[in-house]
Amino acid sequence: MITVPKVDPQVWIGCLACYNSGRLVGDWFAADTADLVTPADLHKRETSHEELWVMDHDGFCGALKGECSPSEAAEIAEILSELHDHESGAFACWVEVFGEQSDRSHWVDKFRDAYRGFHDDEAAYAREWVEMTSSEEDKERMTRWPFNEIDWTRAAEELFSGGLHAEEVLGGIHVFWTD
Ligand SMILES: [Zn+2]
Repeated sequence: MITVPKVDPQVWIGCLACYNSGRLVGDWFAADTADLVTPADLHKRETSHEELWVMDHDGFCGALKGECSPSEAAEIAEILSELHDHESGAFACWVEVFGEQSDRSHWVDKFRDAYRGFHDDEAAYAREWVEMTSSEEDKERMTRWPFNEIDWTRAAEELFSGGLHAEEVLGGIHVFWTD
């Protein structure tokens, strides 16, 4: 059983001034309200330290790499709030490969447009695709020779050389349509 990671962006926000003087002052917060965290929140008292920074993060489904400002983390968390938990694995694959090609405010829409589901392998996708797009009559024909002898691996090579992209993960592939 593959466990699907939850879409639950969390950030570890730290104080930069403290960090630069060798002390780690910070805590984990829900990323969608990361921009509302104040230096006083982190230090548990009033402070002259001003700049906060996201030094670690979790649950972003690959949509955040490295460090960033709390407001940037909140912006990405807002975008991810449209994403459902069951989409997290496929979205992480998509954003890794195609994320840089579009403005992140469109990430979830672009991902959903492109996604063609999870399949055992390319040949299985080719077969399912043909069955899905065929009439009842054609389907019936496909159970008879020579259609039941179709080399689905070869058919898949054709299919995946023209616009389809497969990302291999544990147990199968995520298939995406590319423009
Ligand atoms: Zn500080």
